[in-house]
Amino acid sequence: MSQREDYTIGWICAITTEYVAAQVFLDETLDQTFTDLPANNTNDYTLGRISGHYVVISVLPEGEYGTASAASVAQGMIYCFPNIRVGLMVGIGGGAPSQKHDIRLGDIVVSIPRDGQGGVFQYDFGKIIQDHSFRPTAFLNQPPSVLRAAVGGLKARYEMKGHQINENIDRVLKENPKLLKKYQRPDPESDRLYRSQIVHPNKDNEPCTAICGDDLSCLISRTVRTEHDPNPAIYYGLIGSANSLMKDALLRDELATQKEVLCFEMEAAGLMNSFPCIVIRGICDYADTHKNDTWQGYAAMAAAAYARDLIYQLVPRSVTDRSPIRKILDQSHPYSPANIVNHNWYFNVPLNSDLINGIRTSQKRKRDLGHPEDLSSSSDSDRRKKAREKTPDRGSIDDDYDSEDLANLLETSEDSESPLSHTNFALTLHSPAEDSNSEDQSDEVSQETRYESETQSSNESESEGSDETSESSI
Ligand SMILES: [Zn+2]
Repeated sequence: MSQREDYTIGWICAITTEYVAAQVFLDETLDQTFTDLPANNTNDYTLGRISGHYVVISVLPEGEYGTASAASVAQGMIYCFPNIRVGLMVGIGGGAPSQKHDIRLGDIVVSIPRDGQGGVFQYDFGKIIQDHSFRPTAFLNQPPSVLRAAVGGLKARYEMKGHQINENIDRVLKENPKLLKKYQRPDPESDRLYRSQIVHPNKDNEPCTAICGDDLSCLISRTVRTEHDPNPAIYYGLIGSANSLMKDALLRDELATQKEVLCFEMEAAGLMNSFPCIVIRGICDYADTHKNDTWQGYAAMAAAAYARDLIYQLVPRSVTDRSPIRKILDQSHPYSPANIVNHNWYFNVPLNSDLINGIRTSQKRKRDLGHPEDLSSSSDSDRRKKAREKTPDRGSIDDDYDSEDLANLLETSEDSESPLSHTNFALTLHSPAEDSNSEDQSDEVSQETRYESETQSSNESESEGSDETSESSI
């Protein structure tokens, strides 16, 4: 019998299809129920083991979507399982194929920092419509270093020896024949990428083959993958996350071009700052009007198969040596979820270079004055003082930066054109400086500033797929 304290890896899914795929990839399912869970727990849990790690899996409540619901499930999980060190968000997403990234249905996208973004790019549609430029609406942490290191190790192993993702999916389907129909790899003919201008008529019950055309005037021709090409291919980079479903090929293309977003989903942005995790998405559609659920089962399986390989890549000690997420949050900020009962603690500040510079100036001014605590005598302030004394100036926003700093900055910004003049916001509160994560956050701030200069990166694709062969055909 396991104890709640044994579980070190938390795995979150958004929908039942993903939850099923996650469960069949456990090495061992632990059929037990904890009767001592907190009374306010509303999550459903599946317990198991993978490669020596205790893994707990949960899913968003049926019918719920979006970042807030994901954050709520993650918060519940880390309070029921207090020793969870790292998280995985695993499921399906809409792909953003481009000349640079020949993403196909069933491929896998892993959230890895790129171009000043921490791996997940949160955007909102309001801004897109107003100024046609995409700005991050929140400052999101990158995945924990232990997971990024494992991704690098697994990537190298795949390059040398290839992966066995299809073989592993076939194995679990053989063990669970009832899943075959929904979860097996669909006919390759059903992987159809329509040109971005071709819009699916508003007749949901009619298939694309009947009403969207079937020739090269409407479909993008792509080379057939050979046995030497990785299939599914794995892509590493940015995942676009918003509370709205991306179902617009032109917007998809714009985000793919401007920010090199590889896929779209609706939960990850709610997790990155409160549940250190990596996001793994199997591509089930192309985030356009032609989306349907044909590939959802297989895409969920592919993402879960990759997640299992990633867990195998993790040495148990490298996970258990980290601090539990709950402990980090408990000890960190007075406004951490540990200290706020209401789940709506998670908010976003539109971040830009002016705001970052303003926070830095404010922090410096307080340090120069030498008695920042004069501004307040609350215990919160005392706690921040202690943290500040322990934290050297890293030339970036301190993890313990004051909420008052942000509030004052925004209050004193009266110019309606000012980038600081957004209303109806609150604070994104980062998890605390914990080993390498504190460096991560420093890096992100400086990268964020560079991002604001709109520098376009010319980084090569990190895809394992064969991009070159397809560029001319897209
Ligand atoms: Zn269609």
